Amino acid sequence: MNVLEFHSVHKRYYMAHALRGIDLAVARGKIVGLLGPNGAGKSTLLRIAAGLASPTSGSVRLMGRQLRPCDKRHIAYVPEVDNFYAWMTVRQAMEFESSMFGDMDVDDARSLLAELKLDPGKKVGALSRGQRAKLKLALAMSRAADLVLMDEPLAGIDPPSRAAILQTIASRYRAGEQAIIISTHEVLESEALFEDVVFLSSGRVVLSGHADQLREERGQSLNEIFAEVC
Ligand code: ATP
Repeated sequence: MNVLEFHSVHKRYYMAHALRGIDLAVARGKIVGLLGPNGAGKSTLLRIAAGLASPTSGSVRLMGRQLRPCDKRHIAYVPEVDNFYAWMTVRQAMEFESSMFGDMDVDDARSLLAELKLDPGKKVGALSRGQRAKLKLALAMSRAADLVLMDEPLAGIDPPSRAAILQTIASRYRAGEQAIIISTHEVLESEALFEDVVFLSSGRVVLSGHADQLREERGQSLNEIFAEVC
């Protein structure tokens, strides 16, 4: 069954057309790369999928039903901006997230925070940018959400931390149970992670499909395809 479906989704912000008729189906068990340059509409698409913005027209379905506000509990959305209170400690942020969403495995979250070398007693506001990115990731990946949406999880992160983030996604992903959509324009580093890819440009899907199949058919890496179609 498809976890997420977009049917002719348009989004306009006054004069700006952020999305121009998106049709999309994401099956359970997939890690999908949402690839596009700046301004392509990636964040808008993810915010609509998370139920945080409404389409101007078209429909969005989660597990076969019209997306409703209460569906947020099935979705782990990791925005590009910081989403935890700076005054909280890492432990408090974890407890807060766990109280908001009943599907968090707190033991798993604790061990993931330790793996990523995040001090539970440290204030969120005192973490570096890379550490804050790891915190968002750890708490999202400790949830048994049906749909995980990550907006540019590698943005502004140094290469070793990027590798740790990609490794965490690959190892903690609940294969067969959840679908993950990861937006990025850092295709080179992340392409090994994606099973399916959606290339977005100027609010339109310009190419989509199975990553291995596209590589084989075109004799190109995803990064090369990205440079050509986006
Ligand atoms: P980036 O990689 O730079 O984050 P993106 O692919 O995530 O870009 P979006 O942020 O979804 O792209 O933006 C798509 C288009 O919609 C852009 O032209 C942007 O200027 C416009 N847009 C997005 N949010 C708003 C808003 N709140 N008001 C007006 N225009 C907006």
